[in-house]
Amino acid sequence: MKVHEYQGKEVLERYGVRTQRGIVVDTPEQASEAFAQLGGELAVVKAQIHAGGRGKGGGVKLVKSPEQAAEVTGNMLGMMLKTHQTGPEGQEVRKVFVCEGLDLARELYVGIALDRAIGKPVLMVSAEGGVEIETIAVERPEALLKLPIDPLMGLQAHQARRAAFFLGLDGPLMKKTVPFLMALSEAYLELDCDIAEINPLVVTEDNEVVALDAKINFDSNAMYRHKDIAEMRDENEEDPKEVAASKFDLNYIALDGSIGCMVNGAGLAMATMDTIQLHGAAPANFLDVGGAATEENITEAFRIILSDENVKGILVNIFGGIMKCDIVARGVIGAARAVDLHVPLVVRLEGTNVKEGRELLKDSGLDITPASSLDEGATLICKAVKAAV
Ligand code: GDP
Ligand code: MG
Repeated sequence: MKVHEYQGKEVLERYGVRTQRGIVVDTPEQASEAFAQLGGELAVVKAQIHAGGRGKGGGVKLVKSPEQAAEVTGNMLGMMLKTHQTGPEGQEVRKVFVCEGLDLARELYVGIALDRAIGKPVLMVSAEGGVEIETIAVERPEALLKLPIDPLMGLQAHQARRAAFFLGLDGPLMKKTVPFLMALSEAYLELDCDIAEINPLVVTEDNEVVALDAKINFDSNAMYRHKDIAEMRDENEEDPKEVAASKFDLNYIALDGSIGCMVNGAGLAMATMDTIQLHGAAPANFLDVGGAATEENITEAFRIILSDENVKGILVNIFGGIMKCDIVARGVIGAARAVDLHVPLVVRLEGTNVKEGRELLKDSGLDITPASSLDEGATLICKAVKAAV
């Protein structure tokens, strides 16, 4: 789960991480008041969207007066901000964060991310802040220091010192950087983060070590134990299809292919996507309807798949284990009648009560193509979609 920069900073502050402070607003008048309240001569107006690279896209602007803060905010609110992390149409700016303006001496990079290969979070630091860390990791790996964090022990002080030293922060700056990194790691572990990235971490002209930006992503599956953070979710920033799916306990991820998939079980869903790909087409989504899908869930799943205009055909691939095939068939028939099914539909059922299930589909009078194996199902739907184009 992603949160906005202002929320990420608020969370980090709770752990004692020093961040560039600010006030989140959604009108120009409030921006002008925020400038006055911050009390400095310089402020930064920052668009709040769930994507990085805002600076380059015009979503981060320095302002020098309350009037200018209001003007810049007025221009930014409602704009479709495009960055390398948004889609080509951009993301609508609904809030801006008016922050204290700082005089920057250095911009550095600090991030903690889960390294799945070693099964541990890794602290990464680089003296080259403000740039894409992925680029540095590929082009100049020696400019990036990576230190694995023991998930039970947390970041150790000697590791934090080593990281600070690598960044060239010694003397009094070392004394500020070490607690900063320890607090960041504590927040990361305690709050079940996936990513906690500070890009840039800055050293100000008056020698403060400050998080100028914060990108914090949380493990969605752990949000039940962090209710306050779960409430930070901003559905405006998410794919509406994914939001609808989560309300019906469907594990749905939108993709950009043309074949909608409805499958039970994440493993089978992955195999289905692979098989579609093998037959020369691409899946429009990942969808696991779960083991206990009802007719209502299946109808909703169909609705979501069909609301995607890229979908040119649907492949249903269900293995009836706990779930019975006749119930699935009823769900599919009900859904196909309830929603306007305007694309070819191939259904492969296997498992408990498969005979009854197949008969129900056959007798339904609906234009459903049955398949007896995943391979056949994928072949049929890929052909049908190609024929329709
Ligand atoms: P991003 O582009 O979405 O990653 O947004 P950031 O929050 O990282 O800001 C982008 C850039 O704006 C930073 O790398 C800084 O160079 C600049 N910036 C942000 N706040 C300040 C500030 O208070 N003072 C100065 N001088 N530059 C700032
Ligand atoms: Mg940044």
